[in-house]
Amino acid sequence: MKVPMSSSAIDLASADAIARYEPVIGLEIHVQLATATKIFCGCPTGFGAPPNTNVCPVCLGLPGALPVLNREAVELALKAALALNCQIHQHSRFARKNYFYPDLPKGYQISQYDEPFSENGRVEIVVDGVRKSIGITRIHMEDDAGKSMHEGFKDSARYSYVDLNRCGTPLCEIVTEPDLRSSDEAYALLTEIKQVLQFVGVSTCDMEKGHLRCDANVSVRPRGTLPFGTKAEVKNLNSFRFLKQALDYEIARQVAVIESGGTVEQETRLYDPDSGETAGMRSKEHAHDYRYFPEPDLVPLRIADEWLSAIRATMPELPGRKRARFISEFGLREYDADVLTSTRAASEYFETAARVSGEPRAAANWVMGDLMGLLKTEARDIADAPVSAGNLGDLVKRIAAGEISGKMAKEIFAKMFASGEPAAAIIEREGLKQISDTDELQRTVADVIAKNPKQVEQYKGGKTAVLNYLVGQVMRATRGQANVAAVTELLKKMLGADRIC
Ligand code: ADP
Ligand code: ZN
Ligand code: MG
Repeated sequence: MKVPMSSSAIDLASADAIARYEPVIGLEIHVQLATATKIFCGCPTGFGAPPNTNVCPVCLGLPGALPVLNREAVELALKAALALNCQIHQHSRFARKNYFYPDLPKGYQISQYDEPFSENGRVEIVVDGVRKSIGITRIHMEDDAGKSMHEGFKDSARYSYVDLNRCGTPLCEIVTEPDLRSSDEAYALLTEIKQVLQFVGVSTCDMEKGHLRCDANVSVRPRGTLPFGTKAEVKNLNSFRFLKQALDYEIARQVAVIESGGTVEQETRLYDPDSGETAGMRSKEHAHDYRYFPEPDLVPLRIADEWLSAIRATMPELPGRKRARFISEFGLREYDADVLTSTRAASEYFETAARVSGEPRAAANWVMGDLMGLLKTEARDIADAPVSAGNLGDLVKRIAAGEISGKMAKEIFAKMFASGEPAAAIIEREGLKQISDTDELQRTVADVIAKNPKQVEQYKGGKTAVLNYLVGQVMRATRGQANVAAVTELLKKMLGADRIC
C-alpha cells in the first residue's frame, strides 16, 4: 500500500521547477437555479429559513413519495445551456446516483448520467489580452443535498447536526474540458460563466450563499509533452480568490511530488483557506461506485421544439456581444465597455442613459464616474440607483445643449442622487440655468469691459490671451452660471465692435 505524502511533509517546488511544468485544469461548477421552489417538489428554495422547515415527504425521501419535475428549473437549465453555446438534447433522462451520507435522506441523488440534456459547449475567456475558447463538456440537472453542521452547537464535540432545507434544491452541473492551462485562466472562466449566468437570470451565482460552487481538477505535465498527468480534484473553493490560491498551491505541490521522484495520487483534496493548502480527503471514487441506474420514478425528459424556440426567443443579448456592440455602436473604449457590461443591470442602465442623452461617451463617463462612485460609497446596487437611467441621460443631454455647465451638473447630480428628483426640478427650484444669450449676459459683459480698461487696452493692442482673463471675470460675476462659449463669443464681438468705432 502506498502511503500518500502529507502536504506538510512536502517542500513546495521552486519557481524554476514550476515553470518546467504545464498545469492542466478542468472545472466542475454547480449552480443553483433561481427557481422559487425545489426541483421535484413544491418546497420553497429560500435561504436562511429555520433548519428543517422547508421540507416535505418528497425531498425527505419518505417511502412512497414521488418526484415531479419543476418546469421552471428545466427552463433555466436550458437557458444556461444556450448561454454557454451548448448542444441541447431534446431527449434526456434522469439517473440515480447512489451513496450514503447523513445529508442525503433518499440515499441517492437524482442526477443525469449517460443522457444529459446538453453537451459540447464553448466559452471564450481573455487572459492577458489573449482570447481563448474553453470547451464545456456537458451540463446536467440534479438535486442538491442537505447540509451537515459540525460546528456551532454546545455539544458539537459529540454530535453533528443536519439541516435538510437544501435537499432538492435545483442545480445545474457544468463540466468543462481540461482546456485551462493556468489558475488565471480558471479564474477567468469562472468569472465569465458567472457573469453570463447572471445576465441570463439562470442563477444569482452568489458564492457566499453557495449558489455557485466550484471544484477544480488539476494535473501537471512537463512542458512540451502531450500525455496528461494524474489529476487531483480540489474541493471547498468558496470564493474566486480561493480557487486561484488552491490551484497555485496544488500545482506547486504536484510539481514537488514529481520532482522528488514521487507520483501524484488520483484523489479528492480539500482546500483549507486558513493555511492556503490542500490536503488529501479521500481517494477518488469512480462512476461504478455510485451504481447509477435510470431513475424509475421520472419519465424521460422530452423538450418540444416549440418550447425550445420559445426559450431561445427570450434569451437576452449576452455580455460578449453587448461589449462588442457598445464599442462599435457607441464608440466606447474597451475598458469602459467591460465595466458597463459587467452586469446586466449596469449595461441596461448605461444603454438607456446613452440613448436618452444622445451622448453615449459622456453618458458612459457619468455612469462609471459619478454614479458608480456614489453607489459604491453607499454600498448600493445600480439596479436600485436613486437616479434613474432616463434622468441621468436627461442631465447629460442638458450639458450637451449648453443649458447647464459641467460644473453645475456635478452639483445637480449630487442632489438628484440624494432626492431622486429629475434634473429639471432642481434646476428650476434653484435657478441654476446657465445664462446663455440673454440681455443679462450682455449687460454683465459690458460691465466687465467697463471695469477692466487696462486689459481691454492690452487685448486691442493684440495681446489676445488676455481674453481668458475677461471671460473669467464674467464667469465670476455670474457665479459660474454663464455659458463659457457664449461669453467668449460675446466678448470678442463687443471688443471687436468697439475697435471698429
Ligand atoms: P472522472 O472520470 O474522474 O470524473 P472526467 O474525465 O469525467 O474525470 O473529468 C472530470 C473533470 O476533470 C473535467 O472537468 C475534466 O476536464 C477534468 N480532467 C480530466 N482529466 C484531467 C487531467 N488529467 N487533468 C486535469 N483535469 C482533468
Ligand atoms: Zn419538499
Ligand atoms: Mg466524470
